[in-house]
Amino acid sequence: QAKKQGRNNYQMYDVLLDRKAFERLQIENELRKALERNEFALHYQPIVNLCKNEIKGAEALIRWQNERVGHVSPDQFIPIAEETGLIIPIGEWVLKTALQQLKDWHSNGMDRLTVSVNLSIRQFYQPDLIPMIKETLELAGVEPRFLTIEITESMTMDVEKASVILHELKELGVNISIDDFGTGYSSLSYLKRFPIDHLKIDRCFVKDIADNKSDENIATTIILMAHNLGLSVIAEGVETVDQLGVLKQHHCNEAQGYHFSKPVPGEEFSKIRVPS
Ligand code: C2E
Ligand code: MG
Ligand code: MG
Ligand code: MG
Repeated sequence: QAKKQGRNNYQMYDVLLDRKAFERLQIENELRKALERNEFALHYQPIVNLCKNEIKGAEALIRWQNERVGHVSPDQFIPIAEETGLIIPIGEWVLKTALQQLKDWHSNGMDRLTVSVNLSIRQFYQPDLIPMIKETLELAGVEPRFLTIEITESMTMDVEKASVILHELKELGVNISIDDFGTGYSSLSYLKRFPIDHLKIDRCFVKDIADNKSDENIATTIILMAHNLGLSVIAEGVETVDQLGVLKQHHCNEAQGYHFSKPVPGEEFSKIRVPS
C-alpha cells in the first residue's frame, strides 16, 4: 500500500514538475516575441517627499500582457528574461520609454519630476551600460540628474566591479538607489564605498512598523544609519496612515506605496493627488 501510495505521489509530483517546466518554456517563448509585438507597458508609482508632502518622482514598473500566458508579473518574467539575455533589449526599451514619458511630463508643467528605473544584474554588468544610458538620455533630451537607477544589494556582491560601475554612473550624473534594502546580503561597509544617493527600505520592514516595536526599531535603525552615511531614505510599501506616521516621526525622507497610489499608466500619473 505504502509503495503504491509513494508511486502515486511520485507521479503526481512529476506531472506538476512537467507543468511548471512547460509553463516556463511557454513564458520564455512568448517573451522572445513580446517586444516586437508591443506587449510591454510601463506603469508609474509616485515617490512622495514627506517634508513637502509632494510628488518628487515616479518609479517605472514594467507590465506584460500576452495573449497566451495572460498577465505575468515582473517577479515571474524578469528572472527568465535575465537567464535568456532578453533583459538587455527589454531593459533598453524600459529606459527609453521611461525617459520619453519623463520628457513629456517635463513639457507639461511637471518640470522637476525624476524617474526611477530598475536595473537587473545582467544589465548592470553589461559592458556598454554607461554609453547606452548616456545615449538614451541624449536621445530623449533629459538631463542625467532627473534619472535614478535602482539596483539591489545582491548585485553588488562583487564589490570591486560594482564600485567601478557605480562611480561611472555617478560621473555620468545620474542618481543611484539601493532597492529592497535589508533583504540581501549586505556588508554595511560597502555602503560607504559606493556613491549611493538613496536607500529604499524594503516593504517587509515597513509592513508591521505601526504594530510591532521591534519592527519599528529595525526601520528606525536603517533610517539613522542611512542618514549618518549622508543618504536619503525612501520607505517602500507604505499602505496605511499609521505606517506613514511612524516613518515621518523618524524623519524618513520619502515614501512610496498604495497609501499614495498604486502604479498607474503614464497618462494617469498627473491626476494623482497626495493625501494631506
Ligand atoms: P521593486 O522595484 O522593489 O518594486 C516595488 C514593487 O512593490 C512593485 O511590484 C510595486 O507594484 C509593489 N508595491 C508598491 N507599493 C506597494 C504597496 O503599498 N504594497 C504592496 N504589497 N506592494 C507594493 P511589481 O511592479 O510587481 O514589481 C516587482 C519587481 O519587479 C520590482 O520590485 C523590480 O524588482 C522588478 N521590476 C519591475 N519593473 C522592472 C523593470 O523595468 N526592470 C527590471 N530589471 N526589474 C523590474
Ligand atoms: Mg524598484
Ligand atoms: Mg523595492
Ligand atoms: Mg523588489
